[in-house]
Amino acid sequence: MNTVRTTAALRALDAAHHLHPFTNARELNAQGVRIIESARGVYLTDSDGQKILDGMSGLWCSTLGYGRREILDAVTKQMEVLPFYNTFFKTSHPPVIQLSKRLAEVTPSQFNHFMFTGSGSESNDTIFRLVRYYWDLVGQPDKTVFISRHNSYHGSTVAAASLGGLSAMHKQGGLPIPGIVHAPQPAWWAEGGDMSPDSFGLHVARQTLDMIDEIGADKVAAMFAEPIQGAGGVIIPPATYWPELSKGLKERDILLISDEVICGFGRTGHWFGCELMNTQPDFMTLAKGITSGYIPLGAVAVSDRIASALLAHGDEFAHGFTYSGHPAACAAALATLDIMQSEDVVRRVHDDIGPYLQEKWRSLAEHPMIGEATMEGLIGSFQFCADKQARTTFPASANIGLAARDFSFDNGLVMRAVGDRMVIAPPFVLSRGEVDELISKASQTIDQTYQHARKLGLI
Ligand code: PMP
Repeated sequence: MNTVRTTAALRALDAAHHLHPFTNARELNAQGVRIIESARGVYLTDSDGQKILDGMSGLWCSTLGYGRREILDAVTKQMEVLPFYNTFFKTSHPPVIQLSKRLAEVTPSQFNHFMFTGSGSESNDTIFRLVRYYWDLVGQPDKTVFISRHNSYHGSTVAAASLGGLSAMHKQGGLPIPGIVHAPQPAWWAEGGDMSPDSFGLHVARQTLDMIDEIGADKVAAMFAEPIQGAGGVIIPPATYWPELSKGLKERDILLISDEVICGFGRTGHWFGCELMNTQPDFMTLAKGITSGYIPLGAVAVSDRIASALLAHGDEFAHGFTYSGHPAACAAALATLDIMQSEDVVRRVHDDIGPYLQEKWRSLAEHPMIGEATMEGLIGSFQFCADKQARTTFPASANIGLAARDFSFDNGLVMRAVGDRMVIAPPFVLSRGEVDELISKASQTIDQTYQHARKLGLI
């Protein structure tokens, strides 16, 4: 096999043949892509040999870090025994059965049934159909409207992208599809004005419930929401938001879908983000951390309320994917759960490494250019701002966040930029020494970004 090795040659081939997700191909090709060649623990190595601390767990998914032998062995063994079989035509296989049982044990008590997919997007599209099917089955076919939120992310398939609240996605391809109403987001720093965070949380929850009442609760099927918005910039809602909203949804008999693609499997210091927020969802969307990112897998957690209606009155639910319950993916998920339980990983995030990082991360807000720095478990963000007191931002055209992302990468730390908000979600296995390194590189990045903004005359 003729293997191309040099960075320049790989870049040229990438530019010639590879179209990247969420990327302007022309700009990327002019600039040249960064090539990640290998990874171990919490570090990536690029094709020039630079070692980079992965503050984003890949794409929020590599929760247990890279190179876990137990997961590799479990997948290899499963590949040898049964690399593929479907679960459509009255067949099943041991890994999917065991995984369903294990998920019933680790998820909140109302969840005892699981449907499998290949990704978070597919899971959300599946729930979209299941919800309408459920209301039809129980004799309320008019309950069809979905509520979701501005600046939320639920995936890139047609229903998921429509449910998401990213206007850039809606502009392409004629989205959103009908039957989806977007409510405001609980983003206090950006949108809270003169209100305290608690008043603002209540205000946004009530605005959402008012929107539902205007449509008519008898027409509203469900609300999709991430416990903490991830791709929208890690927006941790004020403490008042979820209690008010989830109570109002229950009173109106609106189903709640907790999209746990990022928040699930320990990210917030709880097994699932809904446990942190103390909501009782009817469905959960699962993906990413379910296999620690080693193999693609998504799942839909279906609560007893929904499952019992399907089992009692349901017909064939005409829906499924070739890779629903792929045996090797299920083996990766089982090995991931084994490690999480044997190493007490969620407790470590909650009581140990989470608080250690949180304290240092929050102190970044002492810098004059940082408006707020927040974190729950091991998911956090900070906001660059022009004026801390007035909570004013830089002009979007200055691309401060993107500049900071590049400084950070060059410093050997992956942080993601969402506008002028910098986001991290590191692997759960990072050590205290690695936290110290992360914070020192983040501080260096902030200082460089400050100098950059001064040079541009923005401060
Ligand atoms: N929901 C949320 C909250 C997500 O963050 C994502 C992906 N980042 C998705 C759904 C879509 O998952 P996938 O990319 O696996 O389709």
